[in-house]
Amino acid sequence: MRDFVTPTVVVSRCIEIEPCRYNGLKIASDVVKQLIPHVNLISVCPEVEIGLGTPRDALRIVMKEDKMKLIQPKTGLDFTEKMDAFVNSFLDSLPEVDGFILKGRSPTSAIKDAKRYSGPNPGDALRGKGPGFFGMAVLERFSHLAIEDEGRLRNPNIKSNFLTKLYTLAKFRDVKRSKSSKDVLNFHSENKLLLKAYNEKEMRILGRIVAKRDQYNIVKLITDYEKHLLQALKRAPRCGSQINVLMNSMGYFSKSLSGEEKEFFLKSLDDYKSGVIPLSVLTGISTSWLLRFKDDYLLSQSFFEPYPKELVDIDLMISYCDGKDYWK
Ligand code: SF4
Repeated sequence: MRDFVTPTVVVSRCIEIEPCRYNGLKIASDVVKQLIPHVNLISVCPEVEIGLGTPRDALRIVMKEDKMKLIQPKTGLDFTEKMDAFVNSFLDSLPEVDGFILKGRSPTSAIKDAKRYSGPNPGDALRGKGPGFFGMAVLERFSHLAIEDEGRLRNPNIKSNFLTKLYTLAKFRDVKRSKSSKDVLNFHSENKLLLKAYNEKEMRILGRIVAKRDQYNIVKLITDYEKHLLQALKRAPRCGSQINVLMNSMGYFSKSLSGEEKEFFLKSLDDYKSGVIPLSVLTGISTSWLLRFKDDYLLSQSFFEPYPKELVDIDLMISYCDGKDYWK
């Protein structure tokens, strides 16, 4: 059983928390419901915070000379300045956070898919999609954190990557607070295989930084380490890198495994490659061997349990090997 640091997450308040949507409803999200007991939650509804009641007339993004305006079509009121002022003061006042889960398609909170129009009237043309006012500011300031919308988190691959990043960043936040080079070393040792699966080149750079830790003052050590850690976590791990990590791990006890066990594992790797089983089946098999052969190094590796088991979906029946790039 690994020790996890409780992450701090900002969540759009209308997702599972309060019925503060323009229509007086809230949004259901199994992921957010599952996550709430495990995180320090900061909820926010920017539209309510700028004084709009619930229910309220809907807002929309209207493009004026390539600038975004936040307009309430029914009243014709422009909330752009009020929203910008709230967003800046709210983000300025945040404590250190590890991630955001924001409501998709909202002109305020979306991170990708808020509709933009050429005008406020019903027939006005759609001018594309992009982040909303709050979502855009979050991406500008915190692109290095774990950020997703509740719709995308229904995909098990996206959810798994989000949670892995969230818990890794929370752990490193704790290391930063400790200001201890030994903690940086321990963090690196425990996350070596995870980082290898994410980005082997950055994992090696991080290894060199840690190896020279006695030549650094602690502030420089943490700053340099964090820079490359964020770079390593920028993209979700490739299927092939995960398979390499699993194969290398099997190598640790291949002499002790029976031919049938090895064959079963290799067949399971093929099943993972074909998208028939999820990664958690393979990490589960590996973990049973780690426990059986008591390999302390591998047992310490976050790769085999990057976030609490309670957050793993039992219906996680698709894998990274479905060939899609969800983070493009
Ligand atoms: S999407 Fe954002 S602004 Fe809209 S109700 Fe939810 S939290 Fe409030």
